Amino acid sequence: MGFEVKERDLLGRIGRLETKSGTIETPILLPVINPAKMTVEPKEMMERFGCKAVITNAYIVKKNLGDEAAERGIHSILDFPMVIMTDSGAYQILLYGRVETDPEEIILYQEEIGSDIATILDVPTGWRVTEEHARYTVEETIRRAEALKEIKRREDILWVGPVQGGQHLELVAYSARRMGSLPFQIHALGSPTPVMERYLFDVLVDMVMAAKGNLPPDRPLHLFGAGHPFMFALIVALGCDLFDSAAYSLYARSDRYMTERGTIRLAKLDYLPCSCPVCSKRSPKDLSEMPKSERERELSLHNLYVCFSEMRRIKQAILEGRLWEHLEVRAHSHPSLLQAVRHLKRYSEHLVRHSPVTKRSGLFFYGDLSLIRPEVVRHRMRLLERYSPPEGARILVLLPEFWMNPPRRSRRHEVLARSVREELGEEAVWSLHICLYGVPFGVIPLEIREVYPLSQYEVALPPDLETETYAVERIVEYIERMKYEGVIAVWEDCGFGRRVAEACNGLCASLGIPFKGFQTTRGLTKGLVKSVVSALASFKKG
Ligand SMILES: [Zn+2]
Repeated sequence: MGFEVKERDLLGRIGRLETKSGTIETPILLPVINPAKMTVEPKEMMERFGCKAVITNAYIVKKNLGDEAAERGIHSILDFPMVIMTDSGAYQILLYGRVETDPEEIILYQEEIGSDIATILDVPTGWRVTEEHARYTVEETIRRAEALKEIKRREDILWVGPVQGGQHLELVAYSARRMGSLPFQIHALGSPTPVMERYLFDVLVDMVMAAKGNLPPDRPLHLFGAGHPFMFALIVALGCDLFDSAAYSLYARSDRYMTERGTIRLAKLDYLPCSCPVCSKRSPKDLSEMPKSERERELSLHNLYVCFSEMRRIKQAILEGRLWEHLEVRAHSHPSLLQAVRHLKRYSEHLVRHSPVTKRSGLFFYGDLSLIRPEVVRHRMRLLERYSPPEGARILVLLPEFWMNPPRRSRRHEVLARSVREELGEEAVWSLHICLYGVPFGVIPLEIREVYPLSQYEVALPPDLETETYAVERIVEYIERMKYEGVIAVWEDCGFGRRVAEACNGLCASLGIPFKGFQTTRGLTKGLVKSVVSALASFKKG
């Protein structure tokens, strides 16, 4: 039994997890099943949605079904042949302060009922607790985790090692390191209910990243209580491979209708913005007039359709290398989500380290939010850490990047080089370093232009101010570092190009090297080539 990663994007991954009841593909959503009240049976979920894994609470199963479940097995009780994960009652500890079982008993009970993925009885940290209490929950959970190997009798169950610490990030990191050193097959992070209820998704980002950065990367990570489909893209992008949600049914109970962008009260809907089998043949009025129990079931089904289709969309985005684009779309569902995605800036270097270097598809750059994406950050790191201009290149010539882009793909730089050769000789050509400049990457040296994604991106123009500022800063940073003896910049637009020229002018003055800027309205005209050549000649004399 093991976990194998097939595809990656950001920290998200498509993987295969083997269990004794079959292999499941991650990332995967596990609907929470309450054995005492199933609005939608797991078997129906399998038939309708291809659902291959569910989660239930071993503590509640034990309380309600006790020996019967032990004799028949959980797969028979839930009438579900595929993967069943069990939680252990930790959430009930949070709710009631204690549970009527102990760590050893609940481990053995999960073995008896035949869970495929089982969880030790951890002590949840909760929310707004002192650091002292948080530390106690972490240490006690580790103690219980260490005891597992002496207690368990079966070898065919995947055990989950929960990471605690709540919003005390250093404790989360410590907990992750300690739990990661124990022989668990899966880890989990408890997401405190208040984080979800108050939409504190930026806090969630910190918690997941603190855990993720300190756990063995080859083990899958489960997020407890992931809730709503509008945040699935975020948690997958952070590297959560499994997550559970009871929201489909809790929301249905209170007449709340899920969409990929948020939740709407049924009473407020005049139209149903969905074409699932539930919605395609009904109006909100039809649903409202149904008996309560029937409506609850129909809404649960609709909510599940939304959840499962969002999961498929996310997986397709990973395959296409467009998880960031999808995340940006979802980020605009709610200000809190946007805030969380902006918060990823803090982790951009971590994202660069773990994201794929090349992709099948080009990159779409929409605006300043995209500045966080790994491809943009990676280009900056590459230029600063690993790049140096060709030997002998002393004069930097900056040409607008859009000159070289389809549909205006051109060889204008070659025209320029030819004129320099004719007028000033071979040596002058070698001393030139022609680079492109543009948003969002700043400087793109011609010779690395074919490196992904430098010629495979599309950007919305004109750029927003923040993107423009970012690119200007990158250009300045580049010139400061590369020790050229002179800089020439050509610009055609009056906004960004002028800002670049002004920034270069100021920088060169402070570096004590010559600068010449040329504005053009009709591309690289003969007159402009002539001016550039004479500027070069004057640099040489100087
Ligand atoms: Zn629907």
